[in-house]
Amino acid sequence: MIANYHTHTPRCNHADGREERYVLRAMEGGFTELGFSDHTPYFFDEPGYYSSFRMRPEQLEDYVATLLELRKSYSDRIKLFIGLETEYYPRLFPRLLEFLGQFPLDYLILGQHALYNETEGIFSPRPTSDQRLLDQYRGQSLEALESGLFSYFAHPDLFCFTGDPKAYERHVRIICRRVMELGLPLEFNLLGYSEGKHYPDPVFWRIVGEEGCQVVLGSDAHRPADTWNPTLIARAEALLSGFGITPVDTVSLRPLHPRPQERGTRQTSPACRGGGPPSRAVEGSPQ
Ligand SMILES: [Zn+2]
Ligand SMILES: [Zn+2]
Repeated sequence: MIANYHTHTPRCNHADGREERYVLRAMEGGFTELGFSDHTPYFFDEPGYYSSFRMRPEQLEDYVATLLELRKSYSDRIKLFIGLETEYYPRLFPRLLEFLGQFPLDYLILGQHALYNETEGIFSPRPTSDQRLLDQYRGQSLEALESGLFSYFAHPDLFCFTGDPKAYERHVRIICRRVMELGLPLEFNLLGYSEGKHYPDPVFWRIVGEEGCQVVLGSDAHRPADTWNPTLIARAEALLSGFGITPVDTVSLRPLHPRPQERGTRQTSPACRGGGPPSRAVEGSPQ
């Protein structure tokens, strides 16, 4: 592993350590690239609601400025990228994009932490055997990736499905085939792996291996030490190798420079379609 594009900062309220410490840790591991992708700000339309696990819109300017400064300081030693981990909430996404367009962001990764959106849906890690929700997770995520705005799919197996294994296998194969058509990698999430969460799910990754998708390791670092954890990386690589998977070293990132005139003409862009029907109230919190 010589690059990581999934790195958080304390702005999301559940990560520790100054940005520079993540950079130093990445360099200690011999990384050539490090991308920060803290939990994006979002604009919710329910009065009084704001997720506790993401930065606020007014923090984005400082996030970008801090990382631009670090990029300058360490430019001869490591390539630093400025990104965000973003959910695709169809109804709210256009407003977010408009806001993000003001900042020099290098990339977005998709972390689909909730279905529909947080105030009308459910959080993806909540176990369920409901196949309609599985379909919704897949449909919503693929619609996001099809927009061309995301550089990869973070913890694609975050949705915790406890129902029919055949339905799950079908679901995984559809995801695999579509991301291959789109040329996008799937992230094997090292945080979930280190904490023994329900993801990475061996069934999911066995199928990924069979389908031959591009895979990238993502530290999902919420502490500087997690940016580069050699023991964990070795374990993950051994596991993936058993499924015939060799993760890619680096990802070609898709810069986010949405221009207003482009957005206006993309009438059929997934980002411009309406959201799905409301489901039930949310609970829990994602990583
Ligand atoms: Zn993350
Ligand atoms: Zn997090």
